Order: sequence, then C-alpha cells, then structure tokens
Amino acid sequence: MPDDALIESDSMDLPQWKGNAADWPMAAASLRSTVDDPTARRPTRLADLQNQVQELIQRARKQKLRVLLGVLNRIDQEIAREHAQGSADLSRLNRLIRYFDRLAQHIERTREETPEAIALYTGSREIPEVLDDSLRRSGFGAHPINLENPDPALLEHTGLLIYLATSGADHERELERLQELRKRMTSCAQSLMISQRDDFGIRAAAVRAGIDHVITHPIDSARLNSLLTGARAYECDDEQITVLLVDDMATAGVYWRKQFAHANVELLFETRPEAAFETALGKEPDVILLDLYMPEMDGVDLARIFREHPRLSDVPILFMSTEERDQHRLEAKLKGGDDFLNKSIAGDDLIRMVRYRAQRYRQARAERRTDSLTGLLNHRAITEMVDSELDRAIRQEQPLSVVMIDIDKFKTINDTYGHPSGDRVIRRLSTLLNTRLRKYDGVGRYGGEEFMVVLPATPVDAAATLIDRLREQFAELEITTESGETLHCHFSAGVACYPDHVTPQEIINAADAALYRAKQAGRNQVQIGHVDEH
Ligand code: GH3
Ligand code: MG
Ligand code: MG
Repeated sequence: MPDDALIESDSMDLPQWKGNAADWPMAAASLRSTVDDPTARRPTRLADLQNQVQELIQRARKQKLRVLLGVLNRIDQEIAREHAQGSADLSRLNRLIRYFDRLAQHIERTREETPEAIALYTGSREIPEVLDDSLRRSGFGAHPINLENPDPALLEHTGLLIYLATSGADHERELERLQELRKRMTSCAQSLMISQRDDFGIRAAAVRAGIDHVITHPIDSARLNSLLTGARAYECDDEQITVLLVDDMATAGVYWRKQFAHANVELLFETRPEAAFETALGKEPDVILLDLYMPEMDGVDLARIFREHPRLSDVPILFMSTEERDQHRLEAKLKGGDDFLNKSIAGDDLIRMVRYRAQRYRQARAERRTDSLTGLLNHRAITEMVDSELDRAIRQEQPLSVVMIDIDKFKTINDTYGHPSGDRVIRRLSTLLNTRLRKYDGVGRYGGEEFMVVLPATPVDAAATLIDRLREQFAELEITTESGETLHCHFSAGVACYPDHVTPQEIINAADAALYRAKQAGRNQVQIGHVDEH
C-alpha cells in the first residue's frame, strides 16, 4: 500500500507516526514515545509497538535497508519475548529502540548528503551561504567546476549551471566558456548568474550568453528559492500542470485532450461560463485558455469575472480564437487576457506556451508566499495553511497539530553578537526545521524569531515528541557568528491540536498559550496546549 493511502485510510485512534517512507527518524521518535508512554498500560504499549515495528519492517524491506531491517527484527523478537514472559521495566527494548533511533538519524543524514540533482557553479569566488542553503533546500547538490577543464561525468547529469560573477572578472570570456560548456551538456540544464554588479552591461552580456536568470547582490532569497524550485521542476519536467480550457464546442475538448495527452497536463474542460468559474475556483488551474467567442458570454467578459476574484486575479489567461483583426486582439488583451493564440496553433507550441506561462505563474505565486530571510512560508502563507489543513483534517477525521516555536533570549544574541549573527541563527533553525520535516508539513516564519509548524495527520503527543527532538538537535548545534565565534542557543515551543481545539484561531491561541507556559517554566522546552486553553 502506498504511504499516502496509508495515511488516508488509517483512523485517528492509532497514535503512531504515519509519515512517508523516508521518515526514519520520525518513525524512531514514535517508537520511543510509545515505549516511554507512562499513560498507556504495558500490554497496550507492546501491542502498539508491535504494529509499528511490523509496518517498519515492510518499509525497510522495500527500501532494501539491511542494517535497519536487522535491528527492527531484533526489536520485533524482543517484543514477542516481553509479551510471553514480561520483565519489570522494558529496558532491553528501550535500548534497542534507542539504537534504532541513532541508526535512523544516520540514514537521514546520509540521505541528505546524496542530493537528487546536480548544480555546477563556477566563477571567481566562493559560493555564498544563502545560495548554498537554498540549493540544498530545493534538492540540488552544489559542485564547483573548472571552466578550463570540466569533469565530463558531472556535466552529464547537471540540472543547473550557476555563474558567480565577481566585479573584477573578465565576464565576457567566462560567459563565452560557459556557453561552450552548455553546448556539450546532454541534460537540459537551466542557467543562473549571480552578479555583484547590477548594470545594463552585465545583464546584456548574460542575455547574449543565453543565461536564463540573473540575480544581483544583495541576494533576494525569496526570488532565489523560487527560481531554484522552478529549475528543479524544469529539470525533472515531471511536474504536472493544470490547464482549464473553456470553449462552447465540445469537439474542442476532445481535440485538445488528444494534443495534451502525453504532456503531463491535467486538462479541465468546460463549455459553460458558470461551470468554468466553479472549476477555476475549485481546482486553481495554472493557466486558463478561453475561447473568445461563446454564445452565452464572450471570453473577454468571462476573463473580467476571473480577474475580479482575488484567488484568480493573477492566473494567466490566454484567449484562443480564429480572430485575425488586430483591433479585436488588442481589445481582448486590454480587458484582462495575457496573450492571444490562434486556434490553429500546433499542439507542441501550445504546450510549450502553456508550460512557460504556468512556470512563471507558479514562480510568482511562490515568491509571494515566501519569507525572504529564510525561504520558509511567510506569516500569511503559513496561517492560510492552518485554515486549509484544518478543513482537510475535519473532512478526513484526522488529527492536526500546530506548533509555535520561539527562540529563547534572542534579544541577547543580537545584543551580544550583532544582528547579522542573529539572522544566521534564524536561518540555521529554518534549515533544521525544513530538512527534518516531511514534505507535506508546513514550516513558516510567523514573525521575527517565531516559527510555526503545521503537521497534518499528527496527534499532539507525536508532534510534541518530534518537536522535542528538534529542540535537542537545535540546542546542540554550534553556530558560527559573523566574527567567527561559536554560540549555542535554544527554543521553546507550544503544541496544540485538532480535535482538542476546533477553529484555526483556537488552535493558534492554544499553541501560543502553551509556548507562554514553556517560557514561564524556564524555556528550552515543549509544552502541550490544554483543552480549555484558547
Ligand atoms: P524570550 O526568551 O522571552 O523569547 O526572549 P527574546 O529576547 O527572544 O524575546 P523578545 O521578543 O524580547 O526579543 C526578540 C528579538 O528578536 C527582538 C528583535 O530585535 C529580534 N528580531 C526580530 N526579528 C529579527 C530578525 O529578523 N533578525 C534579527 N537578527 N533579530 C530579530
Ligand atoms: Mg524569543
Ligand atoms: Mg518573540
């Protein structure tokens, strides 16, 4: 059974972690919390553990992780032994589970060190920290490359080529080399230039050399992150896009469905304006294709209706028509369309056009949702996520946990080491949260040194255990300040959940109240929200 199906199908009363297959440390945290759970009776704890372990054995088998499998089998045997005879304290089981936890964390680390895509960088300087961070976050491993003598093995699998331009360097020559290099590459890598200079000359040189994107100093990390995510999607080209086509002729739907069949495009087709509006709101397409002339309402008016709705106001709208007269085309564009396509356009061209528009739209949307210092979701995006995940949780009868995290005594860090060092601390915590959580968890910067984490399908105890582990890991981190000193710091957190609280505001308030208690109780700890606290 695929992991998603597993999460969907399980009901709320199973308290164990149900993350995706790669989440070994989470699985280990769940085992630890089950074995330590003082509220459950011993036989219940053992039965719970057994269920979890057997599921993990299946996963380890599937992923061919022999060492993990070995330990899990030992844990399984130990549970059976405990069932049969029983000792007072489960200490052997405890030790085995702790051993499993260490291994799981090791596996997680090595997984991070084997990135999924290659980014090559070249130029006359060191890779900036922000860039390195963003690359890792979007799934790229960064490798330096020598323009004079590039390693052919690397070239073959590169998804992104980065040129770091320093002020004094001979850009023309370096860009020329880069262009030659690109020709030799078999993969369709995107290219990015990061320049200390920002003037017409350098931008023109980049365009001449076929560079796809230019970023200048100081680096805007929101833009950088969204470009890298885009490059990653482009590189795999497996990201499905959703297109809504509105045309009164049913045959148009049949025709375009055929054209789009192999392009990994989900085509939604509507013949009536009102149904089109509903579909657009429900499915949030990446591009809307509108027939210009329809009997009930023409495309231009329908486009205006879309444009008026806050959730559809930025979606690219392309008119499709046989209209050749310039005046009409201009009118259509002025009234809310982004472009005008002739209905006789070749299928391939339409697909390329639609992909391009969809990619730009997604990039812009991602930028609006991103916090620029950390690349995490911003305040608005993470609070929206609480709303939408709570809706889903209620519909699917799943728990949902929300965590508020606040760095302890952060003002002192700023005062002692300076604001830029404070920023570093914020970025390190962001990276930790981002890399240690599942891909469908939400991590956002709620405000200055406050973060919010949204954990779908996670009961409050499992969430607290998980965050407590992250708390320990963060407290152990050595963070280097701007001046090269090392510092340690820690955070406090409050966790609250649905169904203990039932509106987004109640959950957030309860998490906040729990965080406040954690601060009062001496900081560097995690507290769980009380049912009546909101
Ligand atoms: P507590 O343990 O009670 O949370 O104490 P604290 O010092 O962390 O809390 P307080 O809210 O008093 O101070 C937070 C400080 O964080 C104040 C503000 O100057 C600083 N800050 C907010 N945003 C940023 C930022 O983006 N970068 C840096 N470096 N500092 C920030
Ligand atoms: Mg603080
Ligand atoms: Mg604060």
